[in-house]
Amino acid sequence: MTTLRLRGGRVIDPANGVDGELRDLVLRDGRIVALAPGEAATEEIDIGGCVAMAGGIDMHTHIGGGKVNLARLLMPEMQRAGPNPIALPDNPLELASCGGCAPGTLATGYRYVEMGYTAAFEPAMMACNARHTHMEMGDTPILDHGAYVMLGNDELFLEMLSRGADFQRIRDYVGWTINAAKAMGVKVVNPGGISAFKFNQRKLDVDENHVHWQVTPRQVVHTLAKALRELGVPHPLHIHGSNLGVAGNIQSTLETIAALEGLPAHLTHVQFHAYGSEGPKKFSSAALQLAEAVNAHPNVSIDVGQIMFGQTVTASGDTMRQHAQSGLASPRKWIGADIECEAGCGVVPFRYRDQNFVNALQWAIGLEIFLLVDDPWRVVLTTDHPNGGPFTSYPHLIRLLMDRSFRAEQLARLHPDVATNAALNAITRELSLYEIAIMTRAAPARLLGLKDRGHLGAGAAADIAVYREDADREAMFATPAYVFKDGALVARAGRITAVPVGGTHFVAPDYDRGIETMLRKHHAAQGGVNFDQLAIGHDELCGCCNGGRLLPAACFETAS
Ligand SMILES: [Zn+2]
Ligand SMILES: [Zn+2]
Repeated sequence: MTTLRLRGGRVIDPANGVDGELRDLVLRDGRIVALAPGEAATEEIDIGGCVAMAGGIDMHTHIGGGKVNLARLLMPEMQRAGPNPIALPDNPLELASCGGCAPGTLATGYRYVEMGYTAAFEPAMMACNARHTHMEMGDTPILDHGAYVMLGNDELFLEMLSRGADFQRIRDYVGWTINAAKAMGVKVVNPGGISAFKFNQRKLDVDENHVHWQVTPRQVVHTLAKALRELGVPHPLHIHGSNLGVAGNIQSTLETIAALEGLPAHLTHVQFHAYGSEGPKKFSSAALQLAEAVNAHPNVSIDVGQIMFGQTVTASGDTMRQHAQSGLASPRKWIGADIECEAGCGVVPFRYRDQNFVNALQWAIGLEIFLLVDDPWRVVLTTDHPNGGPFTSYPHLIRLLMDRSFRAEQLARLHPDVATNAALNAITRELSLYEIAIMTRAAPARLLGLKDRGHLGAGAAADIAVYREDADREAMFATPAYVFKDGALVARAGRITAVPVGGTHFVAPDYDRGIETMLRKHHAAQGGVNFDQLAIGHDELCGCCNGGRLLPAACFETAS
């Protein structure tokens, strides 16, 4: 049996309180192990001059499901944009796959792994489209994956909430949906707002009634957050709040936090939800207000959704907000879609410009949020790929956070009003490697309830990224020297060396099966899919996922 020792590297493992100590890591049977006294390794790699961290975990990235495919379909020019787009890769282990802001599944896997990431989570899976989402993620090589199922804009949930159905029944419906879709959690997008748009409402504030169902986003958020806690799902409600992208939306964001009444929740891509309406352009940074609220609410975690300048394509379940943004599409084309009235979908190509005041300020707001929230365990590094920018920009983002003079240089190039007036100018904090390791692996693992990922303690999965020390943190994080997945060397100096199939993370909370009688009736009357075919079984999930391993995460013990 092979026992591999990585010798002489600096280990950064925040989950175990290890900050840069020189220590060896030993890998056996896909796990990190502690050698018994006198026991020798059968192989060794010298990683002197390198930093070793757990594999990166992206907890919010659009890599599977209907709208990513629509984004690819809408932007063929991006797929052709590479220097030699139709050439076969020079690496025989890689199959041809297009790049760009919404890369194909294969390129998604290769590019993530080359950067030291070993897991990625799709945040917006429709229950009726869950098979497609799992198949697409299963087609993504090497990376482990999972998805959050969308609830809160579906007819059945809103109808139950509206008629004052028993909370236990709603909770059981949520539990059934997570099980049927093989999800890792639940995401609510513009709570109630996607549905309200179908009744011609063009906005929905936190305490505003849905014209048809007469329920408010506050009720939707609170009910779902409570249901997930009662079901014992480790990842709390994943919230894409009301009024995404709207000047002054900090009010909605603060009200959403208040609506939780202390229940745990994760607010996603908060950069898009931290806008004031001050100043001559009626658009200002509310990063400080947001950070103060997060600092004051230990029940809340966030990911940022940093924007990066250049071409991308935004793909969101938020049809209401994407419709509102469609006039800004660049190039000028967009898609709005829906299936089964479960939620919605809007795909709008977008180019973030550094000389545009709003875009430049959005860039500054994202960085301000990263740097103003005190507790790195509650801030996850994301660009909401591809909405704020492609995930391939993470090394650049890490340098911006770690290197104050580099940040000042970039800021000075932006629209002059932002370059001179942004609060970012006064922020001196530089994140440490330890804090970056928290935001990119340890915190997402903890927030998702992945006990054997995101850390390097004995027993953890041997998902490891080894980066060669470099003062230029962008160069350092772009091309790790070695990347291991479940103990196998999968990338070396930016070149893929093995392509194992990734596993699927999901949770299976317990619920009262009695709810199925009502669901069967509902689907017979309202649905286009036969109820008996909705739920995905374990064998089928394995088939969907290209034969990858099933990785169920344990739920919390609940009081009930
Ligand atoms: Zn979202
Ligand atoms: Zn997103």
